[in-house]
Amino acid sequence: MFDIHFFERDPYAPVRHCYAVSKVLYHTKSQYQEILVFENPFFGKILVLDGVVQLTERDEFIYHEMLAHVPLMAHPNPKKVLIIGGGDGGTLREVLKHKSVEEAVLVEIDREVIETSKRFFPNLSESFEDPRAIVVNEDGVKYLQDYENEFDVIIVDSTDPVGFAYVLTTEEFFKTVFRALKGDGIYAGQSESLHYHLDIVRRFQNNLNSAFPIVDLYTAVIPTYAGYWWTFSIASKKYDVRQPKREKDYETKYYSPVVHKNAFLPDELYDKLIIKGEWL
Ligand code: SAM
Repeated sequence: MFDIHFFERDPYAPVRHCYAVSKVLYHTKSQYQEILVFENPFFGKILVLDGVVQLTERDEFIYHEMLAHVPLMAHPNPKKVLIIGGGDGGTLREVLKHKSVEEAVLVEIDREVIETSKRFFPNLSESFEDPRAIVVNEDGVKYLQDYENEFDVIIVDSTDPVGFAYVLTTEEFFKTVFRALKGDGIYAGQSESLHYHLDIVRRFQNNLNSAFPIVDLYTAVIPTYAGYWWTFSIASKKYDVRQPKREKDYETKYYSPVVHKNAFLPDELYDKLIIKGEWL
């Protein structure tokens, strides 16, 4: 039925996803990566960076809601939030739903990802117009080095941990995050899939443990990310992140306080998969 197909080039997946392409809308190479936007009859518009699907119009809300609302709801009064990466604007859109947030700084290394989102994904990039949003085009690691005791929540919404995104998963980086957070601050970041990337998830959790007293793992099913059973690593200086601390007074499609409480990996699975590193 469809003649043109896009084969995903995921650096870590043992499978290759293949999408029918109804129309190629944009294809370019920025200073940092290859950017592609195409249309698929089921998923709608799809953003691809360096051959890897970043988001589709159909399912992006699951990822963005879970990445933003779990750390923000675990905090009783998040005012200043930092997002590293996230140039499509989806995580920023969710962060700005919280009335307590006075300032959300988004540090995206590649200005062209933001421009592409503004052109093709207005439902995500409308967040850039909010007066509380501050956009900085810089490497997130470099940006963070100047800060101490500054942010209530830091969210890393980055590409897979290869190339310039790899440093965002190191022990040294998490120590920088710890320093930049206030005394009761919370960190969250996407940490790949349990099915295909168990070693990466374990390394992520171990590195976080070297910097934070409270480290945990929650998951959601993301149909378009290889491995589907997607993880989010979360770390906290003070609060128990499994409990939402406030009433939810904004609209979401997937996230709710019940989803929040049930998203965390049960202790027996955590022990087997993450501590012992055994498959199920
Ligand atoms: N949700 C997506 C996923 O995991 O497929 C991530 C989407 S978002 C577009 C990822 C962004 O992180 C990219 O635009 C990339 O340029 C940015 N990024 C990667 N490493 C970065 C770094 N060190 N500093 C700032 N931004 C970075």
